[in-house]
Amino acid sequence: MKTQLHLLAVLALAVSPVWADAKAKAGPRHGRILELEGQNAEFFVEKDRTISIAFYDSDGKPQPAASQVFAATAEAPGAKTQMAFEKKGDLLVSTAPLPDGEGYQIVVQARTSPDAKPKNFRIKLLTHICGGCPNPEYACICDE
Ligand SMILES: [Zn+2]
Repeated sequence: MKTQLHLLAVLALAVSPVWADAKAKAGPRHGRILELEGQNAEFFVEKDRTISIAFYDSDGKPQPAASQVFAATAEAPGAKTQMAFEKKGDLLVSTAPLPDGEGYQIVVQARTSPDAKPKNFRIKLLTHICGGCPNPEYACICDE
């Protein structure tokens, strides 16, 4: 019995680094969850290629956008684009669509209020549906 327990402990140790690896989380709109101080934001690319951000409290309950300030840089090849966001209903929505192309990085800078410390998120823009999960690739939650 003791040996078995020991074996289990070793197994758990061997497995835990995989679990510890921060796995992407997805929100109810199948967007990518960005974890912020005391709340979550969901990054989602709309059909017209604007980015919309939805907000949830720490229990996952939808919250209207309040004083959060978001900005993004789309690092499209040869066309690095700064993107601003404005409130649209309960969401923050980019004032312009993403530049053409796929596979480039988007750096999202999120502040929970205008004077909060910004938190940066790097998201690779891959909009096709993963298939292994029902989410677009940029919000994939598969265990690779
Ligand atoms: Zn997936």
